[in-house]
Amino acid sequence: MLQEEHSLSEDKPPSYIDLHTHSFMTGDGVLRVQNIFPDVSGESSLPEHFSIGIHPKNIDPEYMERDLAIMDRVLAENRSRGVVAVGECGLDKFSLVDSATQEQVFAAQIHLALKYELPMVIHSVRSWQEIIRMKKLHARKQTWIVHGFRSSIEAAESLIRHNILLSFGEAITEEQSKARAVIGELDYDSFFLETDESTMPIESIYKSAAHLCGCEVEYLCERIRGNFERVFGS
Ligand SMILES: [Zn+2]
Repeated sequence: MLQEEHSLSEDKPPSYIDLHTHSFMTGDGVLRVQNIFPDVSGESSLPEHFSIGIHPKNIDPEYMERDLAIMDRVLAENRSRGVVAVGECGLDKFSLVDSATQEQVFAAQIHLALKYELPMVIHSVRSWQEIIRMKKLHARKQTWIVHGFRSSIEAAESLIRHNILLSFGEAITEEQSKARAVIGELDYDSFFLETDESTMPIESIYKSAAHLCGCEVEYLCERIRGNFERVFGS
C-alpha cells in the first residue's frame, strides 16, 4: 500500500472503537460495544452500545429457553437504540457443554440476529470450520465478526471469504502470538480491535496494530470507524 494512504489530512484526535469488551467503563471518549449476558440484562441502565448473547461456556440447558426469551425481549426493546449486535455466542471446543447443544443454542441466536437484522459477534475456539459451516447453513448474507482472533492466516482468509470479519485483541501484543503475523496481511476493511476481558487500554492495542500494519494510529482509527459504520450503520 502506498505511503500517502497511511496518513490523514484532517488534524483531529484519534477516536477509538473497542469492538468487544466486558468493561463497563464510560466517559473517556472510547466507543465500546459492551457485552452483556441475559442474566444481567434486567439492569435498569443498559450500555450506550451493547451486544447480548449466550456464551457457549455459559449454556445451562435448564435456563436455555428462558435466556433466549430474555434476549428476544431485550433485542425488541432496544433495537432502535443501544443494541448493535447479537453475541458473543458461538462454539468452543473447551466448553463442557456438548457440541450438539452448543450448535442448537448458537443456531437459535443466529435466528434472533436474522429476526432483528443485526450482525453477530462470534466466540470461536478451535471451531472456525464449524463456524463457516453454520454461516453457510443459516445466514450466508449476514455479517459476523469472530472476536479475539488468534488463529492462522489460512483461517483468517477462509473466514473473510465467507463474510466473517475478525477482531483482534491483546494477543497482537504478545510476542509468540500467531495473530501478530496475520493482522498485517489483511485489508483494513476486514478487521476490528477489542479489549475483551483484558485490562490493557484499547489505545495500546491500536498502537500495536498500527505498528504491525505499518500505518499511523490515526489512520487505523479512521479505517476501523469506517468498518464500524459499514457493519453497524451508525
Ligand atoms: Zn468476551
